Amino acid sequence: MSRAEVPPPPNAPRGRWAPSPSGLLHVGSARTALAAWASARAAGGSFLWRLEDLDPPRVVPGAGEAALEDLAWLGLDWDEGPDRGGPVGPYAQSERFGLYDEALERLAAAGRLFPCRRSRRDLQALATAPHGAPGLPPYPASFRPERLEPGWFEALRGAAAGTGGIGAALRFRVDPETVTFTDRLQGEITEDVAARVGDFVLQRRDGLFAYQLAVVVDDLVMGVTEVVRATDLLASTGRQIQLGRALLEAGFEGPRPTYGHVPMVLTPEGEKLSKRDGALTLRHLRRAGIAPEQLTGYLAASLGLLEAPKALTPRELLPFFAWDRLSRDDHRLPEDLQARLLRL
Ligand code: GLU
Repeated sequence: MSRAEVPPPPNAPRGRWAPSPSGLLHVGSARTALAAWASARAAGGSFLWRLEDLDPPRVVPGAGEAALEDLAWLGLDWDEGPDRGGPVGPYAQSERFGLYDEALERLAAAGRLFPCRRSRRDLQALATAPHGAPGLPPYPASFRPERLEPGWFEALRGAAAGTGGIGAALRFRVDPETVTFTDRLQGEITEDVAARVGDFVLQRRDGLFAYQLAVVVDDLVMGVTEVVRATDLLASTGRQIQLGRALLEAGFEGPRPTYGHVPMVLTPEGEKLSKRDGALTLRHLRRAGIAPEQLTGYLAASLGLLEAPKALTPRELLPFFAWDRLSRDDHRLPEDLQARLLRL
């Protein structure tokens, strides 16, 4: 029996890696993927890959396939994914629109959704709040419709059929209460979603499903029990917890995942990695003759899992994985990364 056929122990975690195919994978993403994979595998759990290709203009052709190839090169494996299927597929969000529509329909029936025809300008015209979503103040409760006709959702869908859009953006009616959760690395976090972002968009007027909707629906119906990702998504978590609860109340089934947000990798100048940092992609390092064990060992040490970098495979790293060993600091890459990797 191959390892993938061995049933996971009961209550074993189910982790996931959910990249957006917007470019080549860089060392920062690889480090987060390594942490997510090791967390699930060290506990004997399963690991799935989901391609987050919701936003067609941002999809770079071939990037999804390249990411699968690059992380397989590094030594990670997954039980389910776009390349190998599985029981809760399809594993690409572009093939799951029917499910997102169903989620919206149920949220509408549960009174958690409303149509919004306000423009960005309407929002910008509000007094600039200090802590709104980038560039925009929180969506004010006063913009909510006072009442909605029964059947409004179906009527809106019917009227928009064939137009290419949906006639109005659809927003989630957030809870007034704050959300508190314990992040496995960042500790207790309390977020006031209503005050910070307010009712957020689940589907844009042009029909595009929002990341927040797709990620929560998919984690739920795919049975994901632990979300491990980078701290740049920490600010989305309160919204996702609220939405997850609302979906459960509206009849969806699935686990409530735990969250662990690992710190970011920064360039030698202290900036977030971007598409411009081509030399920091796995492709580039691989072509420069770096072995996957060298990169794994370096990333493991940067995460705090090894005292000093040494070449090893992701499997060999598993005995060293523990959440309380993970560093909470961002990792600034050295100028001479390649040379250091080659020395390991
Ligand atoms: N697709 C998202 C990204 O690549 C990550 C989603 C998540 O991990 O929740 O940034």
